[in-house]
Amino acid sequence: MTAKKTGKKLTLRRCIGCFEFKEKKDLIRLYKNETGHIEADVTLKAGGRGAYICPDPECVKKAQKRKALEHSFKMRISREDYETLMYQVDGCHDTGLRTVVTREEL
Ligand SMILES: [Zn+2]
Repeated sequence: MTAKKTGKKLTLRRCIGCFEFKEKKDLIRLYKNETGHIEADVTLKAGGRGAYICPDPECVKKAQKRKALEHSFKMRISREDYETLMYQVDGCHDTGLRTVVTREEL
């Protein structure tokens, strides 16, 4: 069981909410979209600056409290953006990481 993983380097990223290191695949990548809003990157194809967060609304709250996104993206993040993220992240909980609701669906 353990042998399968040997030789494969894990890609660890730190959650901007709780600061825990987790495997990249267990985190949601956040990115700044064309309209300047921060969104969950479901396709994992968006380039540019990114941040990672656990699929947990609590971590979004923690990030909001310490203005983690502001620091990561060097811009002002509106309360609505954080709320959107919380909603997206919450949706991940039930439906799985890669089926985040898009902004348009809200
Ligand atoms: Zn976290």
